[in-house]
Amino acid sequence: MSAHSTRAAPTSTQGWRREPTWQALQGQATWDVCVVGGGATGLGIALDAAARGYSVVLAEAEDFASGASSRSSKMLHGGVRYLQQMDFALVKEALEERATVLANAPHVAQVLPFVIPCESLAHAAFYGSGLKLYGLLAGSHNVGRSHYISSKAMGAQVGALKAHAHGIQYHDGLFDDARLAQSIARSARERGAVLMNYCRAEIQGQADEGADLILLSRKDTGAQHTLRARCTIVATGAWSGERVAVSRGSHIVLKDIGLASGVLLPKTPDGRVLYLLPWLGHTLIGTTDVSVSRPDYGHQAPQDDIAWLLKTASQVLQKPLEAHQVTASFVGYRPLVHRSQTGKNSSQLSRAHLVERLSARSLRVVGGKWTTYRRMAQDALDAAIAHGMLPKAMACSTAQLRLSPNPVLDNAWLTQGQWSEDQLQKIVQSAVQEEAACHAEDILYRRLRTGFTDQALAQALQSQVAQSMKMMSG
Ligand SMILES: Cc1cc2nc3c(=O)[nH]c(=O)nc-3n(C[C@H](O)[C@H](O)[C@H](O)COP(=O)(O)OP(=O)(O)OC[C@H]3O[C@@H](n4cnc5c(N)ncnc54)[C@H](O)[C@@H]3O)c2cc1C
Repeated sequence: MSAHSTRAAPTSTQGWRREPTWQALQGQATWDVCVVGGGATGLGIALDAAARGYSVVLAEAEDFASGASSRSSKMLHGGVRYLQQMDFALVKEALEERATVLANAPHVAQVLPFVIPCESLAHAAFYGSGLKLYGLLAGSHNVGRSHYISSKAMGAQVGALKAHAHGIQYHDGLFDDARLAQSIARSARERGAVLMNYCRAEIQGQADEGADLILLSRKDTGAQHTLRARCTIVATGAWSGERVAVSRGSHIVLKDIGLASGVLLPKTPDGRVLYLLPWLGHTLIGTTDVSVSRPDYGHQAPQDDIAWLLKTASQVLQKPLEAHQVTASFVGYRPLVHRSQTGKNSSQLSRAHLVERLSARSLRVVGGKWTTYRRMAQDALDAAIAHGMLPKAMACSTAQLRLSPNPVLDNAWLTQGQWSEDQLQKIVQSAVQEEAACHAEDILYRRLRTGFTDQALAQALQSQVAQSMKMMSG
């Protein structure tokens, strides 16, 4: 068997229809790779596997990126705070990956200046030296110099900030997580991967020495199919059961409060980290870090979290924020790998990723960050090859693989709320036919991000989008 002999024919990016996709995944006797979960990690694996020449099927129980991967803080970063945990290898790897995403997905990722407001020169010296180290770890991948910034210069950049005696400026990446997920999915499909959303996958056990059986169940029709895969890679994030500790991170979004830079508060009064970011014409503030027993797909952040975010951000702003300024809130669930670290709270658990063998023909990838999704995929596939689950194929090529944009949807937020009927029709058509949206919510949240920036507007557009989808299918 050669990996290349079993590869599915590349599909066109035009016309990602649900029924042909369902037929396609039944059309192959044995797949090289079956990916369970369509968040950043799973989609990254599907793209890497398809680019290496393997035949790939991916099943996502809900919508693509409906878990943590559309609810992150939108930072492409090494994690300034992990420096405090002395996890330099983790930071270095993530900084390399930051540069890779910035190079390969410039349509959804950019460099953003940040400031850290400091009360004393000692604080400025502490954070300044930490950020010098951050820059050194980035090496040739550095995206901008860090330096001391005066109170006046900081005020000019971030007018909304209260006067602080000192500040440090540095640079990191900002990205659009849900759009990046779609870009990875599109690039994977262009290379022949078959991706099905609203389709749960469960490993049923070994078919024979050469393959596992995976039961796929469609959420819309209830139809089922059992497929054979040489290698199954489980990438179910916070839905990975006891393997992960789950931490809830809430964000709030407000109409732009006037941020030209991001603001990092490295130590809130209760020891957390808070970001204030300019995002899609709005201000994004997050996040909380609260241990919970399990994740869900709900959107709204709990009132307590919203109140904490408003109060904590207000402490560094000239004008305190008020609840009525909040246009949207959302929660995400971090999958933090459980190691023998009992006694640590969730903000101290490692963000490193883990590839572990589940059985002769299956692996699980868990933990990590959005920023490192590509590296996680590479490590998972290299492990599958090393364990003999897959024949050797081409080496990983995703570090140099430019991701495919979708010009219709990548910039649609710029004019959101002002679309003509024709424009909305075009948007809906692209979301359904090119990005597998099945429900109005898929479009309004994960294809356009309206629901993540302005929940009232998303609600107002709901019936129009649903109507437009109905007309297309009719
Ligand atoms: C609040 C918050 C802020 C964050 N901020 C950042 C940041 O700024 N920068 C950064 O780099 N990282 C950040 N992260 C981390 C990053 O978002 C996650 O590491 C990443 O999105 C995890 O992707 P994933 O694919 O592993 O998980 P998910 O995106 O959660 O995907 C797992 C998927 O598996 C599906 N699934 C579960 N069971 C099944 C099944 N049986 N069959 C099929 N599908 C199944 C789920 O529906 C889900 O879509 C943040 C995370 C959170 C929660």
